[in-house]
Amino acid sequence: MGCMRIADVQDDIDHELVSAEKIHAIIEHAAAQASEDYRGKDPLLVAVLKGAVNTLASFSQALSIPCQIDFMSLSSYGSGTVSSGTVTIRQDLSTDVRGRHILIVEDIVDSGRTLAWLVEELKRRGAASVEIFALLEKPARREVDVDVKYKGLEIPDEFVVGFGLDYDERYRNLDSIAVLKPAVYQGEQA
Ligand code: 5GP
Ligand code: MG
Ligand code: MG
Repeated sequence: MGCMRIADVQDDIDHELVSAEKIHAIIEHAAAQASEDYRGKDPLLVAVLKGAVNTLASFSQALSIPCQIDFMSLSSYGSGTVSSGTVTIRQDLSTDVRGRHILIVEDIVDSGRTLAWLVEELKRRGAASVEIFALLEKPARREVDVDVKYKGLEIPDEFVVGFGLDYDERYRNLDSIAVLKPAVYQGEQA
């Protein structure tokens, strides 16, 4: 099966951080646990566009129980590149979450601000429960306390791309997670 690997964009990549095999092992482990916890509960998986799309696709396929999926598009406004926690909904869920057991499927938790806002919003709408699976976490950058029930992998404070995560809308279709060469960013700033 063809897919974009590091070799296909090697001029841009500094090093691989999480292999495709490791990503799928993390997802399968979390999905097995969630399948036990949500059996009979008809969970609704919620992903924030676009970064979490790959994680949601793999996670939902690794579940051994029925579920529904839905998406939200959010934008965080703040000074410069720092997300402020003030979140605007660009595209809302199409599902009524009242009384539903929600499992948010997230690509990466950075400051935690977007996720903290989303958890509160879903509870405010009357969800029966709200839990989180996060493929990656950057503990060094956490600003807000968010309770991630299904934990993936902790990574250092480096900007990563691949498996849904982008830099300037690129590299989302890379099959692993990698750190870009500084030259890629510097080219952007010049
Ligand atoms: P926060 O937790 O600060 O509210 O924002 C988390 C979001 O910022 C993630 O869901 C992701 O979309 C984006 N993000 C955070 N760290 C990275 C990173 O290292 N690489 C990429 N491509 N996006 C990131
Ligand atoms: Mg995200
Ligand atoms: Mg992005």
